[in-house]
Amino acid sequence: MEKRRELICIKCPKGCRIAVAMDGDEVVGVEGNSCPRGEEYVRKEITSPTRMVTSTVRLIGSDMNVMPVRLSGEITKGKIFDVMKEIRKCQVKAPVRMGEVLITDVCGLGVDVVAAAEALDVLG
Ligand code: SF4
Repeated sequence: MEKRRELICIKCPKGCRIAVAMDGDEVVGVEGNSCPRGEEYVRKEITSPTRMVTSTVRLIGSDMNVMPVRLSGEITKGKIFDVMKEIRKCQVKAPVRMGEVLITDVCGLGVDVVAAAEALDVLG
């Protein structure tokens, strides 16, 4: 039996409402997307949703107390909690360069936690 779901595309500010027809786990129809990225988004969102994670880690030796961080790639939604747990354990010491890898291969997911800003060592 066919079921319908509605999702809002988050790939651009237009936010198209996209109707997805499903037959079991299979996507059998997509309507309402204004461009191909919308169909790609809903198919991935239904079969294997992924997210980019951004957060902060503790920073010492700088005039900033925290360093903004991001992942080098998207991860499956179900792994966000595990990754955030690892990020919360992390503490870095200035200087830190933008893009510097702070945690390699976090949780074995094949992505790194990288610095999303620059921090100078102001305390010497
Ligand atoms: S379907 Fe295309 S135009 Fe619509 S929100 Fe997604 S990316 Fe933007």
